[in-house]
Amino acid sequence: MKEMIKPLLYYSTNLHAEKVVFRQALLKGQAPDLGLYMPEHIPVIPSNEILAYAGKPYYKIAWDVTRRFLEGEMPEQDLLEITRDCYDFEVPLEKVMGRKYIMRLDRGPTASFKDFAARMMGRLMQYSLKQEHNRLLILTATSGDTGSAVSNAFFGLDNIDVVVLFPENEVTARQRKQMTTLGNNIRSLALDAKFDECQSLVKKAFADPGLDHLPLSSANSINIGRLLPQIVYYFYAYAQLASDGEKAIYSIPSGNFGDMMGGVMAMKMGLPVKKFVIATNGNDEFPRYLYSGIYQKVVPSRNCISSAMNVGHPSNLARLVALYGGVMDETGVMVRDADMEQMREDLFAISVDDDETRRTIADAWKDHQILLEPHGAVGWAGLKNYLNQFPEDDTPGQLCISLETAHPAKFPEEIRKITGIDPELPASLQGIDTLPEHVVRIGNDYSSFRTYLHTGFPKT
Ligand SMILES: *Cc1c(COP(=O)(O)O)cnc(C)c1O
Repeated sequence: MKEMIKPLLYYSTNLHAEKVVFRQALLKGQAPDLGLYMPEHIPVIPSNEILAYAGKPYYKIAWDVTRRFLEGEMPEQDLLEITRDCYDFEVPLEKVMGRKYIMRLDRGPTASFKDFAARMMGRLMQYSLKQEHNRLLILTATSGDTGSAVSNAFFGLDNIDVVVLFPENEVTARQRKQMTTLGNNIRSLALDAKFDECQSLVKKAFADPGLDHLPLSSANSINIGRLLPQIVYYFYAYAQLASDGEKAIYSIPSGNFGDMMGGVMAMKMGLPVKKFVIATNGNDEFPRYLYSGIYQKVVPSRNCISSAMNVGHPSNLARLVALYGGVMDETGVMVRDADMEQMREDLFAISVDDDETRRTIADAWKDHQILLEPHGAVGWAGLKNYLNQFPEDDTPGQLCISLETAHPAKFPEEIRKITGIDPELPASLQGIDTLPEHVVRIGNDYSSFRTYLHTGFPKT
């Protein structure tokens, strides 16, 4: 007889909610005590198994890493089908010089690294809903990238409807079309509002007892279903480039810190890492926290050209603090201090301003014919700063991997101004300009939004 495997449990970082299995954490999103779900134990992958990833296709590594968090919850064959369906695009590792590489996470259908997480979260949700004979209505406010990645990833999935709210005047035409040309189970609402106002309408809907009949959930980066897929590419890059258990340096351009959490989780799972460089734009709350031990949000957040990283209070920080033994509540208050010494041992953090970001794009093109966009340039600049400060790590043999999180063609004006070249549109974004748009305009007030939800999704 086969032994029953006990599923891994997930706790809330605020420590006041019941532990749940993965499926519940995935479908709920946020814990009822407003904390974020984290696995109770972190599975460890033996080093020979990590080295054996070399040469394997991405989807198989994605399966082998994530199955350890889902044990006992779904048949491994079903998970393999999901990862194969998610990861049908390239993950290039581009050599800059010596053993320094750029990992391009920009080849998914919406050309940002958010595709990695959104595609897998959507399919895991669909799988769980079918088992429970349930439906979900996902509400998402977006300033651009999240809305397009989520819309694309959830398009055509069974049992799930998506409503995306976006500020009409704050997203680019291309971003808008990535959300509005899909139709089917994806509905987009354009508002004459700012992103924060869209976000607040969504929050009001979640708290509205008058909408209790709707199976509301969210798809933002607090969902554990978005975190697990972001562990995988750190292993993938390592297996392709490293030998004999050597330690790698990774640089991660960071905003809400979901990407960084994926890296730190990979390290706790046994990935040999010398240092994570955490590179932020002008929103420097994390570098200040790491070196002072005092956490202060940046309010309001600063507008920088790496716009997807304009975050003054990263929600995933609560998870990092939890991994280092502390407790940070959802408002950013430290309830229990983290082990800062260990955190500084593992991480190096730096804030890179817009001037340095632009200079980095220009230099990478001039010196190495490597085309970066503003987010990836923050990462590359962070790595260069680290190697300048710690020259003992700047050896020809040291493996360094810097993450590029968006495709340069998403920022054509900036790239043209800085390098004089016109980045070619990736195949996934071609043709989108001529597709018909489906968009509903509603007033910038809660009663309009509520009416929209009541008429669009009537009680049955
Ligand atoms: C969202 C985003 C980031 C920031 O990722 P976090 O996980 O929020 O730190 C960086 N670059 C791009 C292009 C993004 O869309």
